Formats: sequence, C-alpha cells, structure tokens
Amino acid sequence: MRIVRFQAGGEARYGVVEDDIVREIAGDVFGRLRPTRKKHPLKRIRFLPPTAPTKIVGVGLNYRDHAAEMGFEPRDEPVIFLKPGTAALPHRGKILYPKVSNRLDYEAEMAIVIGRYARDISAKNARRVILGYTCFNDVTARDLQRKDGQWTRGKSFDTFAPVGPWVETKLDPHNAPVRAYLNGELKQTSNTANMIFDVPYMVSFITTVMPLFPGDVIATGTPAGVGPMKPGDTIEIEIEGIGRLQNTVVRKS
Ligand code: MG
Repeated sequence: MRIVRFQAGGEARYGVVEDDIVREIAGDVFGRLRPTRKKHPLKRIRFLPPTAPTKIVGVGLNYRDHAAEMGFEPRDEPVIFLKPGTAALPHRGKILYPKVSNRLDYEAEMAIVIGRYARDISAKNARRVILGYTCFNDVTARDLQRKDGQWTRGKSFDTFAPVGPWVETKLDPHNAPVRAYLNGELKQTSNTANMIFDVPYMVSFITTVMPLFPGDVIATGTPAGVGPMKPGDTIEIEIEGIGRLQNTVVRKS
C-alpha cells in the first residue's frame, strides 16, 4: 500500500494511492486507516512530505563502498546524527542552494518511516513500529560538514531532506535497488542488501538512545557515488518497489 500526504483545501491530508487516483483517508495514518469516498487524480495532487517528522535520524557510513570513498573505516556500531524535521522537502519541491556553501551533494537513501511511539524496541519487535519505507535524499553541504568537523550545519538547512513521494508499506527493505540520477544520468546504484546494519538493528539501536514518534524518519545511509549538484539540476532518488523522488536545485535568493 502506498500512503501519500498532500495539500488540499489549504490542509494536509493523507491518502492511499490506487493506480492513478488517490483515495483520501480521514484523520492520520498512525492507527486504523479510515478511507473516505473522496478521490483525487494522482497527477493533480500537491505533494507534501509523507509525514511531518519531529526529527530525522541519519545513519552514516552504512555501506562499505561509501565509507571507503569518504576515507572512513566501517564501524562496529552505526554512526547516527540528526537532521531537523524542518528540513523535510516533498516530491517535486525545490532544494535551496545556500549562499554559504560551494559544495552541495546528493545522497540516495532508503528511509524508514515510524508508525508508532517507539522506545527501547528490540530488533525482534522493530517491524511493529514501522509504518513503511520511502525514498530520501540526505542533502549535504560537504564543505561545511568538513569545515565544522561535525555534521549538524552541513545537513540541516531548510529543504535538505527531500523525502517521498509516498510511504510504501509492503517493501522488503533488505532487497531493494537504490539509485540516484542527476539530470537523468545514473550516478549511484546499489541495493539495500549491501547495508552494513539492517533495519531491525537500526530501529533497536536508535530507540535505546531516543524515543521515536509516529512520522519520524530514519535515513539508512548512502552507497558510493555521492557527488555535487548545481542550481538548475534535477536530482532523482529511485528505490525499486517504492518509486522515484524528484527535486530540482535552485540558488537561495
Ligand atoms: Mg547520508
């Protein structure tokens, strides 16, 4: 099932994608789904980020080939960091290139979307707190990340968390091809099977540190092939079984 969040009548609404239509859901999607009779053509909806996360937890260096290209040894535990929920950007939204950066990278990632309050969850019970999976671009001002020696500024600007287009509830998260296309050219290609830490382990690891709330997002790390974007570029993150998240880059005025 594909769950989408969109804007209609000045409000955020949830819906289920059924072929080329979206069937509206009453209320939110964190309990029993209550479909309504209201339908919208999929091609006409104005996408919102699939949830409104209180926070986005990033997992760094979760693919060996990317750790190697960044000059890091793989770790025996996940390296986690935070991106603020305010950075979330929907499908087709514009990534704002900040004036203070000269190097803005894409990072294609699968994201886990949390469906229930989660604290101290065992790996065995992780599936129970997951709503589904979506595409994520962990946009990073690489120059600021390097200059600061830590990651908060470089990863937290508004629009630095493109996410969507929707949440897929039925994905096998450990066998999903992940790709990035810059202006239509394939730049990253891997599979979530290559992740060092699997989904239940990441959920368990993170929820022993901090509680996760419905709608929170875990970005599970990027494979090799990250690279720079420029104003005017179109960047697409594709995960087979979910879809393609498309965004364009514009210089921040
Ligand atoms: Mg990343």
